[in-house]
Amino acid sequence: MSRQMGDSHRRFLQAMMGRGITDEQGALRLYQHCCETHKTQCAPDKLDDFIDTINSKLQPMFMQIRKGMSEDNGQQYYALVNMAETEITRMTSDYADNELELFRKTMDLIVSSENGKASSTEILNSTDSMTSKKLKKSETEHLLNRLVNDKWLCEKHGEYTLSTRCIIEMEPYIRAMYQDQVKVCHICHNIAFQCQICENPTCGIKIHNPCVARYFKGRTEPHCPACDDFWPHEIPEVRRPHTKSRR
Ligand SMILES: [Zn+2]
Ligand SMILES: [Zn+2]
Repeated sequence: MSRQMGDSHRRFLQAMMGRGITDEQGALRLYQHCCETHKTQCAPDKLDDFIDTINSKLQPMFMQIRKGMSEDNGQQYYALVNMAETEITRMTSDYADNELELFRKTMDLIVSSENGKASSTEILNSTDSMTSKKLKKSETEHLLNRLVNDKWLCEKHGEYTLSTRCIIEMEPYIRAMYQDQVKVCHICHNIAFQCQICENPTCGIKIHNPCVARYFKGRTEPHCPACDDFWPHEIPEVRRPHTKSRR
């Protein structure tokens, strides 16, 4: 039984339509603000219930506010996603055919890579095998900037990763499209791109970097949670949400 959607829910949804994606702290602040404005009850542990109520009304429109983790800092994010189109075609209003072809190729590179990244050189080289109108170097660079600005990709030191928004929104597509290649995190069971891999060849489980940080925190001898072999990788630090640190 879905509860009634009130003014506070509507205000929250409107803000999400503007933002597209927000981290958990931002969602909590927004939830509080909406409840205060419309004088309704608000409890921090009820945020997911509040969002479920909105989602029950969004379902007939094939929309959903979906939660997912940032592979960068391990924080939870909420994104308003379109579920009607499970294909990259959802981007056709903003990108030309050959631009989408290059985005697909970038995804191929990222999915098939060990570390969940594609370098700008690899992406530029992949334009050679384009079947639609080939993008020039400057056009490719411009496109990559747009994909970063539109929050489909992230860029650091010339290497591209899929953004949190992209992973949350495209997960069903990626799972269907790359069935054999897609990696799943042993800890949180979500798809994983930037992760550590067990070096035991008969095991080979994957764990997201932030999940590694949390799972092995405080353990002196890290062992694989599946095969119990020594975990040889450097254990990243657990990053705190930016409530105390600067943004
Ligand atoms: Zn994980
Ligand atoms: Zn293992």
